[in-house]
Amino acid sequence: MWHRTISAVAVASVVGGCAGSVHQLPQLDQSNLSLAQTEVQAAGGAPPRHAASDEDVNRTLDAALARIKPAATQLCREMAVGGCEWRFVKSNDRSLNAGAVANGTIFVNRGIVEYAADEEEVAMVIAHEIGHQSANHLATSRRNQMVGAIFGAILLGAVGALASQNNRNSAAITRNAADVGANLGGAAGRISYSKEQEREADYLSAVILYRSGVDLDKARGFLVTMARASGHKETGMLDTHPAGPERLAAWDKAVAEIRAANGALPKRAH
Ligand SMILES: [Zn+2]
Repeated sequence: MWHRTISAVAVASVVGGCAGSVHQLPQLDQSNLSLAQTEVQAAGGAPPRHAASDEDVNRTLDAALARIKPAATQLCREMAVGGCEWRFVKSNDRSLNAGAVANGTIFVNRGIVEYAADEEEVAMVIAHEIGHQSANHLATSRRNQMVGAIFGAILLGAVGALASQNNRNSAAITRNAADVGANLGGAAGRISYSKEQEREADYLSAVILYRSGVDLDKARGFLVTMARASGHKETGMLDTHPAGPERLAAWDKAVAEIRAANGALPKRAH
């Protein structure tokens, strides 16, 4: 069920997220957030890592995927937004990272299994990446990075043109300013939208786990682990996945909503 790969697959291709979500997501409230903050603080510093044999890693990944795949496929088809054929890749990288990349590929690092307390937590991570694929976040994020880049180029291009009106090198200056603008615009687009896509991937993950009969309270433990790890420069995942108490609070809100709706998807955002 899992392909093997070298860790290089993880480089730079993790979904950054850039656009809005496909679904309407619950709003956080302050009491929710305060509880999560207290919990993360009480949980202490860096989370423990347990060494796992190749056999352990394979068995855990296979078991977690087998439990959620039928419901995940069904959910993806119900959404009818992204591709529902996935290629699962196991990386031997020991950092705490996983990702959804081009062509339906989902990679999970060995480090995920080493930090996870149980199979439910691993299932949560896989379901999160399936959520990104099902909502086609990768395509939306690319499109929005491009939109952001064009905006930035127009804005700073105009500034450059004004500043260099009386300069013989004005064309070069304008072009230069446009390049800088393109980079800034792309980065801003990426930063301002990724949280929403990440939150949606968590939400979809919780729906998949709920429908698969996976214990959501056990799965939640991985968000605590990630929040603990985020204070320690351990991982690339934390660059792309907001991992603090806010994410935990959003998870709790999502789970309450999903339980009340008996696993039905929320309304579409558009
Ligand atoms: Zn994500």
